[in-house]
Amino acid sequence: MAQEIIRQLKLHLELLQEMGVEYVPRCQKEIRRRRATTEKQAKVEAEVEETGQEARESRDNPRLEAVREELGECKRCPLWKGRKHLVFGEGNPFATLMFVGEAPGREEDLQGRPFVGQAGKLLTQFLQAIGLTREDVYIANILKCRPPGNRTPQPQEVEQCFPFLLKQIQAIKPRIICCLGGVAAQTLMGQKVAITRLRGQFIPWRWGIELFLTFHPAYLLRNPGQKRNAMQDFLKLKERLEALAKEEEGS
Ligand code: SF4
Repeated sequence: MAQEIIRQLKLHLELLQEMGVEYVPRCQKEIRRRRATTEKQAKVEAEVEETGQEARESRDNPRLEAVREELGECKRCPLWKGRKHLVFGEGNPFATLMFVGEAPGREEDLQGRPFVGQAGKLLTQFLQAIGLTREDVYIANILKCRPPGNRTPQPQEVEQCFPFLLKQIQAIKPRIICCLGGVAAQTLMGQKVAITRLRGQFIPWRWGIELFLTFHPAYLLRNPGQKRNAMQDFLKLKERLEALAKEEEGS
């Protein structure tokens, strides 16, 4: 058992090295970041109580639950016909950092969870490399149902589905949204963008949120030579999260 854990750890560290990681973060910063998340959660719960709604369990976000209820067993675009599961999104409902991808793939459709295939595993590894887990962040997509053959989302599908992502964002109130790939970036920015030109930058968006662009993990699986660049992007995310946690501590 112990040998198996050591073997897994070794494989993980080798992968991090391949991605250009030179050290593993210490946990003190993680503690600060988690504390900031808890404070944000308490603030949202206080607001909910003020509006007369019942406070739920600590990790529940009633606003996010209301979005899920409103979406229901959605048939607003034709993609519902081919889905096994609608993939709403998952993670910390009070996350400071949110990831938005394109649409569920085959594995995501089968499990009803975002980013659980090979690309999802790579995303998880990038998160681990900066000291985060999937439970620390929120992960969603522009579309909540799988397009046939994983084709690019059609404008009319995005038009129907995107408003619900906007409502999720309003409920979660992240400080940073990391767009994974061109479709997420173009939809959120409302214009054509070149990921290679804008990646790695923090771009002011709406509601006090910053957008951050990086490669889609599926692209990285096809182009492993870009993993090092992607790792640099994730390290920038880590730095920005630490700066935000310090700001919250000081306020
Ligand atoms: S993709 Fe979005 S709008 Fe279309 S059916 Fe699924 S949840 Fe509804």
